[in-house]
Amino acid sequence: MNQFSFCLLNSKKNKSPSFSTRDLYFITDQPQLLNLPNRQSTHSYLSLPVHLPLCRGRFEMGRIYTFIGEVVVSVNPYREMDIYGKEAISAYRGRELYENPPHLYAVADAAYKAMKRRAKDTCIVISGESGAGKTEASKYIMQYIAAITNPSQREEVESVKNVLLKSNCVLEAFGNAKTNRNDNSSRFGKYMDINFSFSGDPTGGHINNYLLEKSRVVHQQQGERNFHSFYQLLRGSPQTLLESYHLQGDPAVYAYTKEGAGSSANSDQSSHRAVRTALKVIGFSEDEIESIYRVLATILLLGNIQFGTEEEIVQVEGDGEVVSHIAELTSTQPQQVEKALLFRTVATGGGDVIEKGHSEQEACFGREAFSKALYERLFGWIVGRINSVIEVKDYNPMLHGKNTVIGVLDIYGFEIFDNNSFEQFCINYCNEKLQQLFIELILRQEQEEYEREGVAWQHIEYFNNQIIVDLVEQNHKGILSMLDEACLSGGRVTDTVCLDSMSSRLAQHPHYTDRKLTPADKTMEFQKHFRIRHYAGDVTYSVEGFLDKNKDLLFQDFKRLMFNSTNPVLKDMWPDGGLSITEVTKRPQTAASLFKNSIVALVDKLSCKEPYYVRCVKPNEMKSPVLFDAARCQHQVAYLGLLENVRVRRAGFAYRQGYSRFLLRYKMTCEYTWPNHLMATDREAVEAIVTQHGFQDDVAYGHTKLFVRSPRSLFSLEQERAALI
Ligand code: ADP
Ligand code: MG
Repeated sequence: MNQFSFCLLNSKKNKSPSFSTRDLYFITDQPQLLNLPNRQSTHSYLSLPVHLPLCRGRFEMGRIYTFIGEVVVSVNPYREMDIYGKEAISAYRGRELYENPPHLYAVADAAYKAMKRRAKDTCIVISGESGAGKTEASKYIMQYIAAITNPSQREEVESVKNVLLKSNCVLEAFGNAKTNRNDNSSRFGKYMDINFSFSGDPTGGHINNYLLEKSRVVHQQQGERNFHSFYQLLRGSPQTLLESYHLQGDPAVYAYTKEGAGSSANSDQSSHRAVRTALKVIGFSEDEIESIYRVLATILLLGNIQFGTEEEIVQVEGDGEVVSHIAELTSTQPQQVEKALLFRTVATGGGDVIEKGHSEQEACFGREAFSKALYERLFGWIVGRINSVIEVKDYNPMLHGKNTVIGVLDIYGFEIFDNNSFEQFCINYCNEKLQQLFIELILRQEQEEYEREGVAWQHIEYFNNQIIVDLVEQNHKGILSMLDEACLSGGRVTDTVCLDSMSSRLAQHPHYTDRKLTPADKTMEFQKHFRIRHYAGDVTYSVEGFLDKNKDLLFQDFKRLMFNSTNPVLKDMWPDGGLSITEVTKRPQTAASLFKNSIVALVDKLSCKEPYYVRCVKPNEMKSPVLFDAARCQHQVAYLGLLENVRVRRAGFAYRQGYSRFLLRYKMTCEYTWPNHLMATDREAVEAIVTQHGFQDDVAYGHTKLFVRSPRSLFSLEQERAALI
């Protein structure tokens, strides 16, 4: 074993069911740390190569979970694992974190116990890059919670559980897509609150969705697909239904689904059935379900519309059939559809309202913006509708006691691509915020535990990424404000002009580099880039398209068109379509500020909960169950911010355990406690064990727990125990 690393392994089969340090790893690259009590060096950097071989070994043995402290690290196995069944559920149920080998269930149970026993709101934060296993993990966690609750099978609780589970199927159909990284990649962030009654049964929930990647509706990278829902509709609907939607069953026919038409998709058909059933079970009416698929059909038809110019007048090409089909599907008038596609209403400076014809380019832009917005509104509406079913109704705290919550966050991890754009900028900003919360909460949790136990607290040094968060979000001075300024100052400001202004204002910022990166980078290409030094590494962003994406312009004419639909479901999706052009706000909120507000609200929600973490690692790019790419994994562990966590814990006490449990496990190693317990209290008995083994300088005695600084002390104790049993 590497001299710098420790892993406490039970060589023998775990005989004591009550407590085991098996599978609990400690990592450090500070050999002096092991010669306690001098612990001055704990603030220096930890090396990952120490941790990785452990992860690799475990991955190869099919043990995909590892604990670092109480954070569970999960390595995607890329194969079916027989570890989620009923037996596993009962093994983890009600047990302490370390009583069983590391597992998602251990974390889910810890969060559940804290919620139930201590009436604490808790949250489970799952992070990792695309394809690392976040969504699967969140589903197993939900399944676990569903399995351990409502033992008496009360009907209303079962129905809440059913809706919560079924909502996954619907959200995946509409929010997931095949990408080059993951065949079932979530293209939105999701935070789900599950509410519990005082008896610990689910009573309802609420889903928040973040930043759906709506650009995918109109464009996909080579080899990727649009959202599953389109292919499911086309491949899974009977011919007569397709005809009523004016669709053909072949995705290759439609501009928006052509790219992904060739991808194998055996499951589209069966998924379509499952989604329709799920929608029904959740409580969507027939009309609502019909409306959902009509919106999808509308989008597919919109994608095939072409514009042409005749005698300087822009027109929709063809015989107008598509326009009338769209009008039929959306319950609007064909003339109105055509008008929205070709004209926009503008208010002149003098207060008059005029209709201005689009150029061909503007018409195409409008059509795409409309397609994206239709999908985004549809998705938001579906989430809202699910929420209306599962929200806790008639809640009376006097009658029902404290309404506690477990939140589950499945959100995109840090992204560094070859080409990073506005979306990566937003996603990485979100990760900076979560990282900050992570550090704050872990520190706070540690501090609170020490206070509760009456153990002295020491100051811990760590990298505070507040400076990067400020760089992005600070009012007036941050990048988001500068982008918004540029967007609101009219059409003259281009991406490059905005970049220029940003670079001159941020020239001195230690985490910002402008486009003149190095002499070699001074090519035209690099004139359009800026780089941020994120906590997880440097990312170079291409500013091209930033302003358009941030403005997220959709002509009011489209909103009005949908608001005037005689289909109440569609109308409901477009409440802002009722405003006249003179009422439309002059300063609409930009995409970035909307996103910022939603992330700030998310952080607020999380920060008042007790957090549990699942960090997902993707072992290779090939979706292989046998490949462990050490360099890739090392990268991810760094990006997941695990180091800060380890460092914080290392600076304090690596290990803590309640006196009675500690005694139960190690009593046989001490003459004062074995065969007879001669001490008055468990704490005294534990003191006797510690003193007899000579590591009294390495511990602190809390009110109910023993705190041990170095894993070494425990390691020797563990060895002695193993020799005795
Ligand atoms: P993410 O949400 O992080 O992008 P997913 O949860 O969608 O990733 O996982 C990607 C794929 O990896 C899944 O479709 C599945 O094939 C595989 N996978 C992930 N976690 C597991 C697991 N625990 N057991 C088996 N396969 C898994
Ligand atoms: Mg996912």
